[in-house]
Amino acid sequence: MSGCTSSDRFVVIGAGPAGLTAAWALTKRGRPPIVLERGPRVGGLARTESYRGFRFDLGGHRFFTKEPTVLAIWQEILGADFLRRPRLSRIYYDGKFFAYPLAPANALRGLGLVATIRVLLSYVRWHLFPHRPETTFEHWVTNRFGRRLFRTFFQTYTEKVWGVPCSELKAEWAAQRIKDLSLATAALNMFIRPRRTVKTLIEEFHYPRLGPGMMWEAMREAVERGGAEVRTDAEVVAVERQGRRVTGVALAAHGAREVVAGTHFISSMPLGELIARLDPPAPDDVRRAAAALRYRDFLTVCLIVDRPELFPDNWIYVHDPNVRVGRIQNFKNWSPDMVPDPGKTTLGLEYFCNAGDDLWASSDADLVALARREVEAIGLAPAAAVVDGCVMRVAKAYPIYDSSYAEHVRVIRAFVDGLENLQTAGRNGLHRYDNQDHAMLTGLLAVRNALDAEANDLWAVNTDAEYHEEIEAEAPPPPEPAAVATPRARLASAGLAVGAVLAGVALMWARQPAFFSAPRFWAEEGRVFFARAWTAPWWDMLTATPLDYFTLWTNLAVGAAVRLVPLEQAPLVTTLAALAVQALPLVVLACAVAPEWRDGRRWVAMAIVLLASLSDEIWLTTLHSHYYFALAAFLVLLEPADVGRVRAALYAGLVGLAGLTGPVPCFLLPLFAWKYRRSRRPADAWQLVALGAATAVQLAVLATTLAGRDQTPADLLARGAPAAGRPGARRPIATLGPAAVPVIVWTKMVVLPILGVAAAERAAATLHDVARAPGLAGLLFAGGAAAGLGLFVGWLARGVPPRLRWLVAGSWALVASLSVLLSYGSKAILFYSAAGSSRYAYVPGVLLLILLLHAVRGVPGDQRPTGRAVVAALLLAAALAGGAARYPDALRWKASYPDWTAEVARWRRNPAHALRIWPPGWSVRLAPRRERDACPGGYFQPRGFSASALACARSMASSRRRSSGWWSETSYDSAGSTARSKSHGPFSTPSAQRQFCGLPYGTTCRSWSLKRRSRTARTTPT
Ligand SMILES: Cc1cc2nc3c(=O)[nH]c(=O)nc-3n(C[C@H](O)[C@H](O)[C@H](O)COP(=O)(O)OP(=O)(O)OC[C@H]3O[C@@H](n4cnc5c(N)ncnc54)[C@H](O)[C@@H]3O)c2cc1C
Repeated sequence: MSGCTSSDRFVVIGAGPAGLTAAWALTKRGRPPIVLERGPRVGGLARTESYRGFRFDLGGHRFFTKEPTVLAIWQEILGADFLRRPRLSRIYYDGKFFAYPLAPANALRGLGLVATIRVLLSYVRWHLFPHRPETTFEHWVTNRFGRRLFRTFFQTYTEKVWGVPCSELKAEWAAQRIKDLSLATAALNMFIRPRRTVKTLIEEFHYPRLGPGMMWEAMREAVERGGAEVRTDAEVVAVERQGRRVTGVALAAHGAREVVAGTHFISSMPLGELIARLDPPAPDDVRRAAAALRYRDFLTVCLIVDRPELFPDNWIYVHDPNVRVGRIQNFKNWSPDMVPDPGKTTLGLEYFCNAGDDLWASSDADLVALARREVEAIGLAPAAAVVDGCVMRVAKAYPIYDSSYAEHVRVIRAFVDGLENLQTAGRNGLHRYDNQDHAMLTGLLAVRNALDAEANDLWAVNTDAEYHEEIEAEAPPPPEPAAVATPRARLASAGLAVGAVLAGVALMWARQPAFFSAPRFWAEEGRVFFARAWTAPWWDMLTATPLDYFTLWTNLAVGAAVRLVPLEQAPLVTTLAALAVQALPLVVLACAVAPEWRDGRRWVAMAIVLLASLSDEIWLTTLHSHYYFALAAFLVLLEPADVGRVRAALYAGLVGLAGLTGPVPCFLLPLFAWKYRRSRRPADAWQLVALGAATAVQLAVLATTLAGRDQTPADLLARGAPAAGRPGARRPIATLGPAAVPVIVWTKMVVLPILGVAAAERAAATLHDVARAPGLAGLLFAGGAAAGLGLFVGWLARGVPPRLRWLVAGSWALVASLSVLLSYGSKAILFYSAAGSSRYAYVPGVLLLILLLHAVRGVPGDQRPTGRAVVAALLLAAALAGGAARYPDALRWKASYPDWTAEVARWRRNPAHALRIWPPGWSVRLAPRRERDACPGGYFQPRGFSASALACARSMASSRRRSSGWWSETSYDSAGSTARSKSHGPFSTPSAQRQFCGLPYGTTCRSWSLKRRSRTARTTPT
């Protein structure tokens, strides 16, 4: 077919998946066609029928595909209504249910030990002495599985489906249908879940909320919105041609005959019918070949059962020869919304037949009665519970691959290929055993042939088909490069990943090499954590919680710094520990298997993590590692559930460690719960449990700390209350009014990550004044800014693949809320300065850029990008370019921090010297090592510090602060003997007290006592 002009008119025959997809692609390309459909509704074999409000598929239709283009179309069409459903299916045979995929205990129980041994012996026998030549289905299966398994799991069902003995079915068909599967792999799969080697055994599939018909109805609406015309009840009864050109089709619509002219025709009607309706007729041999094509028909008896639940399966294969039903669907388990009355369950009993045979010709009432009896016989539902039923007959459901079909198709094809402006597509249109995805693909390719003068061979689509309607050959999730690549390609891609991570680490190093050549501590990392680890025993050091939250990573890092290296090198350990965590998101990205990272997205995401222009403040300090852990946890959140055991364990460990290192990752907990709720997969459960446990620890720490300070969470948020009367004093956001919230989010979490500091400062300067407007004006502004924000992020998120949409947008929203929440306290700086306290905005900033990254997607099946994709690409490019430009300058100003080695030298000369660290004004007090080591039990109270400790204790004892506990102090002199013990003070917890005093660890109590509870007030020393 050649390219075409704008005056051309496209006619599509059939509104099944193939025809509608062709119409959809044409509409996207600005050529809306006319679609002619014989039936009253669209969807073809994949339509959903409705009876008294109950929805029934003609046969359960799973949505799965290896074609990313097709998946993207499905997701675009249905969005959140495209559900991911767990799969359970079993085989009913000989009065027993067998799990499928086979489970060892279940299979053994079902078959019995003796039968299992016979199966194995039969397997060995047929491997040693196979059928030769291997011509029939029976030969093919027996040679691979042994006769016993053939009889148990293949023979009866296959004969029900095809209505002919297995000895008459061609082996070629089996080879296509049961590809890759052998008894050995099936047995192996009982114990080891394959990633994708065998095309069976997946545990999930996609499914529209209201059945497959919902997809095709929605696609119909989409094409009609785009200008296409979809006419139902419009059967094409003749295809008129002049020589090799088709000129129009004649319709029998509403009893009248009408001719629809066109210049290009795509037909998805059955191939045999197409040939039979050509006018003038096709040559005799072609017509004979068309008439010889055979099909298998089937009917579904739909039953409404007065029971809220019957069995957990989506469907059950009925191999038992004593009943005629072949497969039973339980539509409520496909999607609960298929059944409008929760007290009822609907079943679809599938009977394979030939049009005109006894089953087909039976009355509906007889068929419902038969189905009723058979569900009871199988033990699925009592016949009396069936309150109603209906019958749907489906002609030409399965194209038959008999011994001569290939030759017939060859003859027909030779003729059809000669027609200049007609292409035939789809399942029956090509007489191929296609699923929806392949039918759709043929529709898409037909459009490209017509519009772009391409020469795609539609007959070649799906020569490697895997079909699954009866025998369990299923398409795997979209292939991962590693799974399909050769060892060499795998090695290359691993090398690329390692190289990318190393390059990222090198860039981190290059940003501030002095951190490594002349290491330094950062603020509390040195003054609180390192100083306490200097004297504390391991356990106390690991479990220390001097802040409002628990940070295991810092505890570990300072512990290693104290114990593993000389003091001069101690900050290097924490810097390296921080570097490791900063590199973690890069590592997770490099190894991630989520298909959405393909097409180079993972490398761009790495650049985002590296270049996001706000990370100066959290650069290489373990105390801020939880921001990077949060990013790593977020990336784990985007991973699919079927990642394999080792990876799943690693992910769970990472997420747990992230949660134990600070509060930011814990804010993602609701999304981990949501993900697990959707997938119900162990890998997701482990992550949820790990993060849940870590969050519980964080909450317990927070509660203890607040109780110790006798504060409530509200006090925490209100801390740093306004310094009344001080001009220009920063006030908590709480006092600024609600408009401050959208201002913070817009300036710091949208403008800053995308356009950089200068733009954020300008935006802040403009917005702050409006935000502070009193009364209604402020409120209106707040509402407008918040709504604008929601619309902006929502609009972007619509471009993100549905699987990720909520995870990415939700993570952004949750982490941004956390940042705003923190702003309610003394961190009003978030409001007043666009660049300051950037740590709070770093993670939301990166998440927003990742949202942009995933929104940069073109329309599947179309070459042109959407407007959204263009905007997202421009914003992302601006963010990355700004970050890259700023990268070399980042942190240079921090090079002026004190020289730690010189500080250590001074301290060695004078142990009372407080070692200065960064930022200015911060220092670390350390006891001399010699004396610490002399201290019994590892605790140490140097003489020099005793006085200050006791003075502090006294001042605290005289304080008026409300408190709920007592502590005791034991201090030692340099010889290790007790200098003073049991000095009580009104402090709630040792850590609160230590924090208050700013003293080294050794000055505090070992035995905190809850013996007495008093409420004493203290004056905070100034
Ligand atoms: C029982 C069963 C279970 C299945 N399960 C799955 C599954 O789980 N997953 C999956 O992906 N696929 C499944 N399939 C396959 C899937 O239904 C088909 O691949 C898909 O519907 C093929 O789409 P199509 O457009 O090529 O053909 P069809 O769906 O057959 O659509 C062709 C359309 O053309 C119309 N038409 C025919 N003749 C004329 C005419 N003369 N004039 C006008 N219109 C005409 C028909 O009415 C029909 O609407 C299943 C099929 C069956 C039968």
